[in-house]
Amino acid sequence: MCLFCEIINGNVPSDKVYEDNMIYAFRDINPAAPVHVLVVPKIHIDSVNSVDAKNSKYVAHIFEKIPEIAKKEGIESYRIICNCGKDAGQTVMHLHFHILGGVELGEKIL
Ligand code: 5GP
Ligand code: ZN
Repeated sequence: MCLFCEIINGNVPSDKVYEDNMIYAFRDINPAAPVHVLVVPKIHIDSVNSVDAKNSKYVAHIFEKIPEIAKKEGIESYRIICNCGKDAGQTVMHLHFHILGGVELGEKIL
């Protein structure tokens, strides 16, 4: 079972920020900003490359909840990052969205 599936089912401890029946949000263990939350679907999806018509509702739900999670964290300006695949820097092969904020975010790629 992958690391984030283990976190979702509680076998690996995490600092939970939000949870419902479809998604789980927790603090990144190695934060890159004062607020650094990871949001994941509760079903295993490898990456954006594995999103399809059957599971895209999880992605939609994540984006529905991101503003709520950010607000709860006290930020209204933030960056969302989703690395897809090795060259993009994806190290955990369970779809996840980084919410980064709480500081003026510097150099941009986009
Ligand atoms: P990626 O590089 O795949 O986009 O992001 C994976 C993220 O997961 C990294 O930012 C890393 O710090 C975080 N991470 C890796 N292992 C753990 C863990 O055991 N617990 C938590 N909370 N975050 C983790
Ligand atoms: Zn998984």
